[in-house]
Amino acid sequence: MISTIKRFFNTFLLIELLKGLAVTGRHLFARKITIQYPDERTPQSPRFRGLHAQRRYANGEERCIACKLCEAVCPAMAITIESAQRADGTRRTTRYDIDLTKCIFCGFCEEACPVDAIVETRIFEYHGERRGDLYYTKAMLLAVGDQYEAQIAADRAADAKYR
Ligand code: SF4
Ligand code: SF4
Repeated sequence: MISTIKRFFNTFLLIELLKGLAVTGRHLFARKITIQYPDERTPQSPRFRGLHAQRRYANGEERCIACKLCEAVCPAMAITIESAQRADGTRRTTRYDIDLTKCIFCGFCEEACPVDAIVETRIFEYHGERRGDLYYTKAMLLAVGDQYEAQIAADRAADAKYR
């Protein structure tokens, strides 16, 4: 009975509406957090999980040893790897594809990689106009790695301090 009376007065006096307006009023004069993208940017973490890249060592040798751990751990089954043994006895990928339309950017692939070969970069401004545009081949991933290696290495070093 008491709760019914209380509900009646709450409705009659528009209490819920006033509570809502109080929230609006509090935010009306607060500091604005909207930014004018792309002229303004929010800070990015060194752990940001954007576009993938394949890295090389300083001597130009690709890091990936075709262990396929990333392919096995990927929950979206977005990675496809084929490999072969080279003349020097080392194993390397002959095919390394990531279908970014399947990828959920979980970061498991880079966590699993024993040689820091597959990484996710800070890059998020990329797009595809057809499905195939987001199918990244080994050559495309290595090209991303080659272009952004300095940033990738700096981010890995910054991240290592917190581990
Ligand atoms: S980020 Fe996650 S979903 Fe995307 S390729 Fe790596 S493991 Fe697969
Ligand atoms: S990227 Fe790393 S985890 Fe994946 S196959 Fe190459 S070495 Fe193994």
